[in-house]
Amino acid sequence: MKSLNFRIVPLPTEVAERARRAAESAAKDHAFVMADSPNGYPCRHCLRFAKQGERMILFPYAAIPPDHPYSESGPIFVHAEPCARYSATNEYPADFRNGRAFRAYNANYNMIDAEVANGNDPEAIVEKLLQNPETAFVDARSMTRGCYTFRILRT
Ligand SMILES: [Zn+2]
Repeated sequence: MKSLNFRIVPLPTEVAERARRAAESAAKDHAFVMADSPNGYPCRHCLRFAKQGERMILFPYAAIPPDHPYSESGPIFVHAEPCARYSATNEYPADFRNGRAFRAYNANYNMIDAEVANGNDPEAIVEKLLQNPETAFVDARSMTRGCYTFRILRT
């Protein structure tokens, strides 16, 4: 796989661990769910689709923090069991080559552009969005459900 001019940023481990603790203490906004399809339960920490039968935690995550016009909190999954944070940050995660939309934000968290990955070259779309000097980061989201998947920063 080709090396990138940008960096993949998976969900921080402390966020995944906090979600696991909240789910164990039966927080109302943290649910245990069983993955029952091969491509329906992306873990934002290891950046892989859960295998069928794996236990996941579903909880809301504020990818864009409060107090901004584009503030947004939405549902994401992490593995219920500890998993290794995605570490190949100079490689685009193989499980998400399809089905992602890319949103470019400026330094004030305003969305300034967006594109859908059609086909197999998400790197080219991300590169294009990052060519705009206004772009501070790009978020990959589910093309269909809109859920946050991972962040992309310049190297
Ligand atoms: Zn995981």
